[in-house]
Amino acid sequence: MNILAKIKKANLLGRGGGCFSTTLKWKMVDEASGNEKYIVCNASEGEPGVKKDGYILKHRAEEVIEGIEIARSFLNKGKKKIKVKAYIYINGDYYQTLGPGLLECIGKKDIELFVKPHGAGYIGGEETSILNSIEGERIEPRLRPPYPTTNGLWGCPTLINNVETLLNVSLVNSDNYRKERYYTVSGKAQNKGVFYLPDDWTIEKVLKETRNYPFFDFFVQVGGDGSGVVLNKKQLKIPVNGAGTIKVYKLQGHKAEKIMKSWLDFFLGESCGQCTPCREGIYRLSQIVKKDSVDWILFKEILENLEESSFCGLGCAVPIPLKSYLKNVAKLPGVFIQDQKLVCKCFK
Ligand code: SF4
Repeated sequence: MNILAKIKKANLLGRGGGCFSTTLKWKMVDEASGNEKYIVCNASEGEPGVKKDGYILKHRAEEVIEGIEIARSFLNKGKKKIKVKAYIYINGDYYQTLGPGLLECIGKKDIELFVKPHGAGYIGGEETSILNSIEGERIEPRLRPPYPTTNGLWGCPTLINNVETLLNVSLVNSDNYRKERYYTVSGKAQNKGVFYLPDDWTIEKVLKETRNYPFFDFFVQVGGDGSGVVLNKKQLKIPVNGAGTIKVYKLQGHKAEKIMKSWLDFFLGESCGQCTPCREGIYRLSQIVKKDSVDWILFKEILENLEESSFCGLGCAVPIPLKSYLKNVAKLPGVFIQDQKLVCKCFK
């Protein structure tokens, strides 16, 4: 069985948070025309609470590099004219600690370590921002379509896969893939850390089996400490989505304004400023929550505007923690959140 058939049989999904089909992405890059193609292993990991890629690069770098080489031979197999260059686009902090070990693993292979520029933050890990960054352009998302699979680095077809996805490719190739994934548990949990467990476990089961299920009243944020969805403790019988994180919050004594402000501060610091709904909308929201009397109608209107008109996934992810928190946890008087989009439309 060839590698694409094996990936399809294993039903591999991207582990960067978007959960896009790996089979489809590989097929699109393979079928795109051009004698020059690129592979980018995304190790930028910029969202608070997401630590798994750093953990994988520390403990399983050889398998990740093996995954890159498998992708390379898939893309140029039988097509000798096709040249495939590979990059590992790595977070600066990881480079400081893991760079020497990675370079040793890479050896003479044609893989370049490209360090994410200082200050590129969360948006610097969005796949079209990565392309701009490697090309030396301003770090901001590109208009899509065209997609990187056909028009990526320097206009050439580019396969962008997350660290964990490429690890899974090497496991699939050697018939060792067991449908497991990495989870990061953080916040007010007793036994925080990174865990490798079956990929279909519910949030509740992950917390219980890792000895992290709290003995106090709590709520969680799942899928990233910035953009993740917020759920109360009766809503934990679903699998962990996105990048596999669970942050535990203590319910009693937490301050609604403080927590909403922390999410908005994160997005305010990360917005690239390219489009008005995101640049102005997040600023307005952060001003609104500071006031003693919050205008919830205006607050909700700005959230809807962000969802509908933002240029990239960062802007349309802003409402995810805020709306889910208001609907599932805070239930503040006068706040009426009817719908709740758990997945940003940009990631569908
Ligand atoms: S939504 Fe925000 S991060 Fe995305 S392009 Fe617009 S300003 Fe930049």
